[in-house]
Formats: sequence, structure tokens, C-alpha cells
Amino acid sequence: MNDVVDTTSGWIDAAQSVQGDTIALRRAIHAEPELGLQTPKTMAKVRAALAGLPLEWKTGKSTTGAVAVLRGGKPGRTVLLRGDMDALPMPEDTDVPFKSTVAGTMHACGHDTHTAMLASAARLLCAKRDSLAGTVLFMFQPGEEGWFGAKLMIDDGLLDNPKPDAAFAIHIMPNAPAGTLGSKAGPMLASSDKLTIRIRGKGGHASMPHHAVDPVPVACEIVTAIQVFVTRRIDIFDPAVVTVAKIESGSTNNVIPEHADLLGTIRTISEESRQAVHAGIARVAENIARAHECEAEVTIDLGFPVTICDARAVAFAQQSIEGLFGKESWETMPSPLMGAEDFSYVLQKVPGAMLFLGVCPQGQMWRTACPCHSNKMVLNEEMLARGVAAHCAIAERFLQRGLG
Ligand SMILES: [Zn+2]
Ligand SMILES: [Zn+2]
Repeated sequence: MNDVVDTTSGWIDAAQSVQGDTIALRRAIHAEPELGLQTPKTMAKVRAALAGLPLEWKTGKSTTGAVAVLRGGKPGRTVLLRGDMDALPMPEDTDVPFKSTVAGTMHACGHDTHTAMLASAARLLCAKRDSLAGTVLFMFQPGEEGWFGAKLMIDDGLLDNPKPDAAFAIHIMPNAPAGTLGSKAGPMLASSDKLTIRIRGKGGHASMPHHAVDPVPVACEIVTAIQVFVTRRIDIFDPAVVTVAKIESGSTNNVIPEHADLLGTIRTISEESRQAVHAGIARVAENIARAHECEAEVTIDLGFPVTICDARAVAFAQQSIEGLFGKESWETMPSPLMGAEDFSYVLQKVPGAMLFLGVCPQGQMWRTACPCHSNKMVLNEEMLARGVAAHCAIAERFLQRGLG
């Protein structure tokens, strides 16, 4: 298959040797979480952890993110590793000693661990610089949680020179067995669009609805009809999820309100069903409203596109992980998840893959552990060494042989 000696085995020990620093950096970031596109304190912690290393730092105007460039001792391919940095606007209700000190802000999606794992991988790969043939890009990215940070860093030209030949990211997952890594070829995460519908009627006295145009039952009918539309008109093998998560209307018990508002999310795993759902929701909402002499105004704000993993990159990652930790450490995902990721923008430009790393807390069942975005999400920090070793092995192996 190849004549390249597999040198990945040393990465497990190397990752263990910096595990104390990985955890310390993760906890420092966790205690001081930042939101959105500006994460300067987090970036400063990374820069301090990597001070003095042979990295060139590229920054852009749109975010505080940076790409650290490691040029190996010999020329060759370029591989990108990505870690996101931002937290979520929500309270933390864990009892860890490094709990968030910023009210209403929590690293509940594990981006603190992604940043720390990437920093340790950068340190270890720097130590091997002379033997690396090619370039490693470490993408420290703020603004993943709906802020389009990855897209903005691309638009700022941070992935242009040198351009990566492949890109990989690792996302932790408390709802997977600790230590397993996995992915799937093709669509892996969904597109995510925001749905807003305003149904306009005519206000009036609640006792005399025939003198008004009541938007409330029309809104209810639209919520139900959207679900009928999705199951009847969307191919079950190219699925869509539409959830109306918020209904808002009215002010009191005896007044028919002027309008009713629906707010929800649209998830699909192909551009075809994404377009079909957008058109179908507008058709259903507008026509139901018209049937009842209301008007529906449908607004769809486009979010992240579908995250599509390159089949060769997934096979490559699987071989790398199995070579490192053994066959039982890899889990091919049976189906996509309907969550979304802005790493999708990187994968639109560059073949690559996102991997999930199981970090189910010790003593818990992975199926029932608090998931990402839970106010009680905790994780098994011992597994971070696996993520560090995986980053290093994937980068080194890609520089040695490409996707093969
Ligand atoms: Zn998240
Ligand atoms: Zn995340």
C-alpha cells in the first residue's frame, strides 16, 4: 500500500507528556469564556502557551482569530488543523472548580478543549519541525456559534497563502464512548437556517371574532401544516427537520391580537432539500394565511451550509486513528447529525473531515450524559490527550503521503 514507515505511535506518549498543560490551558479558557468573533483573552492565552515556538501568526480584520503557520524542515504539502474558541451565552450550572467566572457565559460546546488540544498539537509538531515535509496551519477560530467565524477568516484571506491541501477538525462529544473517534463520508452535519413567520390578521374583541381576523388559530394551523409538508413532500432519504420553537402573540385573554409570530429552525443535509423546504414553507404558510384572510410574511435567514466530509479524507482519518489507537477506537457514524458547524465553509474550499471525539464523563453512560450546549455539560479531560495525538498523527501522516 505504501512504503512510508508509520511514525504515529510516538504521538500518544508525546500527547501524554503535555497533558498537564493541555488541561491547564483548557481550564483557564473555561474559567474565562468569551463570545462571538472577538475572543482576545482566549487568543492571548494561546499565544502565551505557544510563545517562542517557530510559528508565523497570520491575523485578519474581521475576528481576533489567527492562523499559526508551521513550516517544516522540507517543502511539501499543507495541512490545516482547526480549533474553535468561542463560548455560549448561557449560565453554567456545573460544580467544576474552574467553572465560568463570567455571568451568563459558558463553554458548553467544548470549544475550550478544542483550542487547548490544538495548542498542544502545535507545540508537539513544532518539536518535530525538522522532520516535517510541508506546512501545518493551526486555525484558531472564534465565532463558531452562529457568528460565521470560519467564513470570515476565509474571506480575510487567512487560508490563502499557503493554501491547505486538506483540513481536519476535532469536536468533542460527551454522548459518545470516551476515547472513540469517528466521522462519516459525505453529509455529516446539517445546514441550519432561521425561520421567522409573521401572520397578520386584524385585532378586535375576543368575544366577536367575526369582526376581527384572528391570526392565532392560523398560526397554529401553519405550525401543523409545516410538519405535514415535511413528511409528505420531502424525500425521507434526504431528510429535513423543521422545528417551530417559539410562538408569540397576544397580550391578554379578551383581545384578538393583530399578528402572531413563529420562530424556528430548518435543518437539511442537501442543498436540494434545503431549497425545497424553503419554497415549501413559504407556499404552505402564505396559502393557509390567505385561506383565512390573513397574510403570512416568511423570512428565512441563511445559516451554515451542510458540512460535507470528503470520503478520502474520512478514510485517511480512520486509518490514522486505527493506526494510533487500534481498530476499536474508530466509530463510523451511521447517519449525519442535524446540528451545524461553520467548519462547513472550510470543507467547501478544501477536502477534509471533521471528527468527533467521545469524552463521556467517568462514571456516566454516554447515552444519557449531558450533551453539548447543556448548562451541566462536563467531560472526561483524560481524553484530550487522544485529540492532541490524533491532530499530530493526522498532520504528520498527511504531509508524508497525502490522502493516499
Ligand atoms: Zn455548539
Ligand atoms: Zn461546537
